[in-house]
Amino acid sequence: MTRRIATFRNAPRLALLTLATVILTTRPAPAANTSSGVNLYTIPQELALGRQLAAELEHQSRIVADPVVTDYINRLGQNLAVQASAPFPLTVKMLQSDEMNAFTLPGGHIYVSSAMMKMADNEAELASVISHEIGHAAARHATRQASKSKLARLGALPLGILTGWAGLAANQAASAAAPVAALGFSRAFETEADLLGVGYLNAAGYDPNASIDMFERIASMEKKTPGTVARLFLSHPPTGDRIAKTQAAIRKLKKNNEGDDYVLNTTEFEAVRSRLMAGAE
Ligand SMILES: [Zn+2]
Repeated sequence: MTRRIATFRNAPRLALLTLATVILTTRPAPAANTSSGVNLYTIPQELALGRQLAAELEHQSRIVADPVVTDYINRLGQNLAVQASAPFPLTVKMLQSDEMNAFTLPGGHIYVSSAMMKMADNEAELASVISHEIGHAAARHATRQASKSKLARLGALPLGILTGWAGLAANQAASAAAPVAALGFSRAFETEADLLGVGYLNAAGYDPNASIDMFERIASMEKKTPGTVARLFLSHPPTGDRIAKTQAAIRKLKKNNEGDDYVLNTTEFEAVRSRLMAGAE
């Protein structure tokens, strides 16, 4: 199968935004909350919990402060987030870390490590990681997962759960990823985030095949140098099953967009990545 790829290496700064806006009208993005499952958290409760966990995380870890980087990663994130019908605004920040990592806290707080951007080959690959996390956020996987485990362990309880869970996170918060380590997502949620993610990627004008390339890059990095990828990120590895489902979804998306060109890379991605390589933090 040949891939139809357009690389806009010399695209002007705003080309991406314009493209995303144009395509928004022609490529429907998938709806979130596509799977069933109880959520014991109201939106305000999830937002409050998210604020607390994000503050805790940012207190203990280093967020990249370089304004060129923060502006870029936020803009990239927002261009993808407009494709998702998330029930709250999403934020995307970059963690200063040598480990490849990306995760989502409740309430739409998404973090990507600087190593992830350094290792990505192009903007579409980085966007694929962020899109997957946006899938988790839009479908409210964090609070749905927490609701499930609380139900399994304790039966349906009134909502003292909020403080219980936040307390658990606080106790285990020795490392940056600890709050989320407490809530590794189920395989079903990972698959759902994969499918939502390639939909957002496609709707924003990126080649959805970048997600498969990134899957493979992450797997080979870890094989070559164990420990390069954060354990949390590897807790649900891209299994053959996940890859096959993602490929099937991509085939369907591409069939509907016959003849369209996709963005793979931008000059801005290259410029920001060079800045990180040169030590921006
Ligand atoms: Zn995930």
